[in-house]
Amino acid sequence: MNMNIKELALRELQSIIESWGYKKFAAAQIFSWVYKKGIEDFNAMSNLPVPLREKLKERFYLSDAVVAEKLVSRDGTQKILFRLKDGNYIESALIPAEGRVTGCVSSQVGCKYACAFCASGLSGFKRDLSCGEIIDEVFLLKKNSPEQKLTHLVFMGTGEPLDNYDNVLKAIRIINSPEAFHIGARRITISTSGLIPEIKRLSGEGLQIELSVSLHAADDSVRTKIMPVNKKYSLKDLRAACRDYINKTNRQITFEYILIKGVNADLRDAEKLCTLIRGLNAKVNLILSNKVPECGFEPPDKKTTAAFKNTLADGGIQVTVRASRGEDIQAACGQLRLRHEQK
Ligand code: SAH
Repeated sequence: MNMNIKELALRELQSIIESWGYKKFAAAQIFSWVYKKGIEDFNAMSNLPVPLREKLKERFYLSDAVVAEKLVSRDGTQKILFRLKDGNYIESALIPAEGRVTGCVSSQVGCKYACAFCASGLSGFKRDLSCGEIIDEVFLLKKNSPEQKLTHLVFMGTGEPLDNYDNVLKAIRIINSPEAFHIGARRITISTSGLIPEIKRLSGEGLQIELSVSLHAADDSVRTKIMPVNKKYSLKDLRAACRDYINKTNRQITFEYILIKGVNADLRDAEKLCTLIRGLNAKVNLILSNKVPECGFEPPDKKTTAAFKNTLADGGIQVTVRASRGEDIQAACGQLRLRHEQK
């Protein structure tokens, strides 16, 4: 059976090419056609011997995903729905801002974690994405970006990236490599709902990637209500895992905190958050909850948001408020796919 060529790291492709009796240099040429030039046809790889192109066609294909739908927001944000080979759908986003273009990618079809505010888990978990499918997302995002520019990548689409650890890490290493997209590790963010064993494992990878932890509450009872994963990994243990990660990698962590009216946005919540984070090399990114009608959550008003932010800042915590993007095109996690499945 043939396979998606994006499943392979350069050295894996080199050994296959060598086993066919060709110079391993051809693998770098193929990478350059695929990743640098964005070519989607083996016939177009004109510097490869014709028999090698034929052999590649027999053994590989070039993509698992096609663009099924594309929405473009007034602010330039694009939301793209991809159809995979098995008929499943995933969604990704392109977010342009001040000299950068960030791709937001999914790591799984659906999600197991059922966070109360998130549209991704509403229709359950289907399966992991393969490394090749993740790279296809990045490839197609780049193609759809104005001037094919893609500078940053965040694993903040559907799914829990650390629950698909091996495929996500392999994809990141390929995406990061000079022969492929060469997106710097510091420009790649993994966002996790807080899987402690995998955070520990990640700290030993020797990668300079950014880690975001979706906190969303500084109190176990509130967090358990909105993030069932908290039953398994409590805040105390999660804090310790983050501290160890920071110490081992010497990197700052970002805590994501969605402000939800009446749930976690009072000043007392802000004070608890200060206490939890104090002493860690970490910053807080406040997110105004997107309205997902199925979830019934709303963001607090501007005054409450400002007061929450000021309480953190006064408590010595580095804090930013994330600007909401693409609101007119259902760009919150999982919303487009959900609409599609409900059709
Ligand atoms: N499973 C991972 C990555 C996917 S979610 C994680 O939990 O981090 C990526 C980010 O989008 C998380 O911080 C998540 O909490 C946030 N998010 C999900 N639903 C949202 C909503 N309705 N409004 C705002 N942010 C949301």
